[in-house]
Formats: sequence, C-alpha cells, structure tokens
Amino acid sequence: MSTQYDAIVVGAGHNGLTCACYLADAGLKVLVLERYHDIGGMTLTEELTLPGFRSDVHASGYQLANLSPVPRELELEKHGLEIIEPDIVYAHAFPDGRVLAVSRDLDRTVENIGRYSKKDAETWRTLFERYLAEKDGIVASLFSAPPQFSAEAAAHERTPSGMDEYRFGLQSMRSWCDQTFESEEVKCLFGAFALFMAHAPDDAGGAELAWLFGTVLQDVGNNLVKGGMHNVSLALASYLRSKGGEIRTNAGVEKILVSSGRATGVRLENGEEISAKEIVASGVDPGQLTLRFLGEEVVGSEIAGKMERYEWGDPAFVIYAALDGPVEYKAGQDAGSACHVHLTPPSLDPMSKASAECRGGELPATPLIVSWNDSVIDPSRAPEGKHLKKFVVLGVPYEIRGDATGRISGRTWDEARDEYADYLIDMIAANYIPDLKAKLLKSEAHSPLDIERKLPSAVRGTICHGAMLPYQTGSMRPIPEMGHYRSPVANVYLCGSGSHPGPGVSMAPGRNAAQAICSDLNLGFSALAAT
Ligand SMILES: Cc1cc2nc3c(=O)[nH]c(=O)nc-3n(C[C@H](O)[C@H](O)[C@H](O)COP(=O)(O)OP(=O)(O)OC[C@H]3O[C@@H](n4cnc5c(N)ncnc54)[C@H](O)[C@@H]3O)c2cc1C
Repeated sequence: MSTQYDAIVVGAGHNGLTCACYLADAGLKVLVLERYHDIGGMTLTEELTLPGFRSDVHASGYQLANLSPVPRELELEKHGLEIIEPDIVYAHAFPDGRVLAVSRDLDRTVENIGRYSKKDAETWRTLFERYLAEKDGIVASLFSAPPQFSAEAAAHERTPSGMDEYRFGLQSMRSWCDQTFESEEVKCLFGAFALFMAHAPDDAGGAELAWLFGTVLQDVGNNLVKGGMHNVSLALASYLRSKGGEIRTNAGVEKILVSSGRATGVRLENGEEISAKEIVASGVDPGQLTLRFLGEEVVGSEIAGKMERYEWGDPAFVIYAALDGPVEYKAGQDAGSACHVHLTPPSLDPMSKASAECRGGELPATPLIVSWNDSVIDPSRAPEGKHLKKFVVLGVPYEIRGDATGRISGRTWDEARDEYADYLIDMIAANYIPDLKAKLLKSEAHSPLDIERKLPSAVRGTICHGAMLPYQTGSMRPIPEMGHYRSPVANVYLCGSGSHPGPGVSMAPGRNAAQAICSDLNLGFSALAAT
C-alpha cells in the first residue's frame, strides 16, 4: 500500500524544506516534491566549469540567515552546516583602483568611509546605531507573519516618527542616498544593495532595503557556508529525514488536486497522483502556484488577473569562472579579501543609466557586477592552488531589443549570452581585475533564460520570486488576497520567498508559513520554537 501523507510541500528550495521540517516536527507525515534532479533551489552548489571547482549557482552570501532562529531551532550544525565569517564583509571597487571596504569592526568601517567623507562616516555610525536600537523589532518582524495593512497604517499614524518610517518605506534609494550622504562613492557602497532586490535607483521602496541590507551585514556579517550554500539545504533535508519526512526529486508538480474547495493532493507532470490528508504547501514562485497548480478555474478571474500583473523585477546574468590561481584586484587587498565586491564607476548615475538601459531592453554597458571571492574565503571550493569566482550581474533585460555596449550582435539570449559574457570579462579585466583573463581556465555564463530553464521559480531569470516593490511586500506579498501564506483554497499555503519577508536565504517564509499551518491545524508550533 502506498504511503499516506498528511502534508505535501511542492519545491525543495530552502524555504520549502524549512516549512517541511517544522511540519514534520509537529507530527505530520510530510513529502517534499522537487522538479530538479537535486534539492536546494537557489541554494545549489555545482561543478559548473571544471571538476573540483564547486560554484554556488545562485546564492553565495549567508546574510539574512545570520538573523534566523532556524539553524538553532533545527540544530543544523549537527546536520553538517558550517559557517565561515570573513573580516571584510564586502567592498566597493572603482575603476581607478580606489576601494571602500566594510569591516565587521564598525570603527574600521567608519575609518574607511572617513577617507571619502568624515560626515558620511559619522552618519553611518548613527544609521547603524538606529538599526541596533530597532534590531529586536526588525528580527521579530522578519520571522513572523506580516501585520494587517490597517494595523500597520494605524501604527504609523500614532506617532510623528511613524510617519517618517512610512515615508522611508516608500523612498527611493537615490532619493535617500542624496539626502543622507555627501560622497558619491559612499552612495554607491550602500545604494547598490537596492539593486540586489531588483530595484532601480529611482524605484519607490529601495531606500529601506539598502539601509537594512547594509546595516544587517555590518552587524552579523556576510558569511559563506563551508563547502557551498547547498549545505544549508542538505542540512535541512537531513533534519527532515531524521523526523520521518521524505523528499522526491525529478518530481515536477503539474496540478494541485482540488475537490469541494479543498486540496486532496497533487498530480505530477508524469501523471502520477499523490494524496495529502491535511495540507499542500508551495515553495515555488506564486505565479506558478496560482496560475498553473490551482488555475483560474479554482482561484477566480480577479486573483488570476492580479497574479498576471505581478511584477518579477529585473533579471540577473551570472558568470562562473575557474581560475589557475588567485587574482589581484586593482583596488588591492581590501577588495581581494572581502566576501563580495561591488564593481561600478564611482557615481549613482551610471547605475541609473544601466537600469534605464535594462528596462529599455538594452544590454547595459556598465551594470552593477557583484564579484564573489568564494574560494578566497573557502578554499575547499577549488582544487589546491586553484580558485573560482562568480560574477552576478544585476539588471539585464529578459528580452533583448538593443545593445548599449556596441559589441553584441545577438538579439536572443542564446545568441547573445557568450558575446555579452566576453564583453563583461573584458570590462572587468580592464577596470577591476587586470589578471582575470590570464588566470581564466574556463568560464560558463548563465543568461536569464538559462537561469529560468534550470529553475522555473526564477521566473524570467529573476532572483526574488517577485520584485520587492512597496505594493508587493508585507501583507501585500505576493498579492493582498494571499498575503498571509494562505491561498484561495483553504488548505493550500505559500511557503516560498514570494511571501513575507521575501527573498534571500533566511528560512523565514518557510518558518512563518509553518507557523500559519500549525495554527490552522491546532498543532504546537510555539512549543517547538521555544525549545
Ligand atoms: C543569482 C542569484 C544570486 C543570489 N545571491 C544571494 C545571496 O548571495 N544571498 C542570499 O541570501 N540570497 C541570494 N539569492 C536569493 C536566494 O537564493 C533566494 O531568494 C532563495 O534561495 C529562494 O528560496 P526559496 O526556497 O524561496 O525558492 P527557490 O530556491 O526558488 O525554490 C523553489 C523550488 O521549487 C522548485 N520547483 C519549481 N517548479 C516546480 C514544480 N512545478 N514542481 C516541483 N518543484 C518545482 C524549484 O526547482 C526550486 O527548487 C540569490 C539568487 C540568485 C538567483
């Protein structure tokens, strides 16, 4: 007789796995179904270039995860999770060889900023102190369901500082940077983080994201997972199996089966049907859940229409490089030993121009490039004496209609991918890492199309399961009707980063969703979290 499952979780990304762990802990018989041949979603680590060179395919930085209660609650260290904490958290390198580095030591960060502006250095100290004063509330808000919109608005209205917070929540990154810092280099250093969340410098809502990212990394670091980010998901999977949970890979879900307004199970892409007695939770992007797994016939035309208008944000382009030895940045050791380095000209204007080019369908000439020094921090990623790097290019078009580089002839990604990668490698070598090409053994580029082909949850090659715009965050993420991990079908839940608090390896949406499910099923989540 086939196994009877209480809960099916669709998608073995780290959030789906997190949700599954808590459900198994609460006593449910859980099955996780994953379409790819391996678990992890955007936490994969693979040999993409040459044997022995283990690249983090998507996420590298263990950032928001440093604030997460999940590793402690699920004792992930006992399941193989090991974190490496570099001293230089991140840096911003400029083409003229200057650098601005952020250290775990606040005084050193302030000193580095002071070389560009004494005023900005003190401003950063003040901003960081403000974060520390608010930290407990920030962490609590990330790791719990978002408040109702009306409650949030009323809280803002109660005090004058509440209205300032509301304003800050809507402010663009460029507006905030211009009003807060005097040095263009300092604006670039912190402002770049808005682009991590698919924001252009002038998009509403980028200011708070940039401030939050910058302060969190100052506080808890930008760490790497020893052996690769995949080990986060492998640790979660190990915990899940220890609680009797099961995982099947190569098991893409086609439909959630709904009868009399309740989910009864799922149908796989190969036609197999698997039943679930209590709930189905989805860690895939909210578009696929709403429009494919449930479909307009179940969710209704209004919700289907809202999901069709959901905004995914600007796609990414990634280059993985296997290197014959260490490389040297023109900017020197502060860049070379940082966990990651932003590479841009020293002004927000080129960042804005690149975003405008991207949104106009052009391949940007000077996009923000995030250069990861993975094997410098974690030598286990490459064979002895060798190195690897990853360059994440934030903000490229999904459909190519033009070319701001003047070098690319292809107008589909399959034609343009390698030409654009060559352009970027030339540009990085000319401006930031002079010996990059001499050390390059092999590179592989992933266009937005490749990223989406590998993981359909990276819709249009984006990294966030939906842009973090003010109207797609909090209780409005992904849409107001589905803003609390619940869907139009009573026992179907959302547990991926298309729900609050959004993208990043945080394990937060998975844990928050499990809380909602346990509450609906009268299971003891709080007892577990208290241990
Ligand atoms: C290039 C890149 C760089 C990034 N860098 C960082 C970083 O440095 N630090 C950081 O914190 N975050 C980073 N992120 C973001 C972070 O990786 C993601 O926000 C997070 O991992 C998403 O986790 P998730 O579990 O919500 O979703 P996903 O990881 O997308 O998991 C969804 C899973 O569902 C599966 N799936 C899809 N369709 C189906 C189906 N029909 N049936 C069954 N399964 C299905 C997918 O294969 C996938 O495994 C990066 C992302 C990218 C793409």
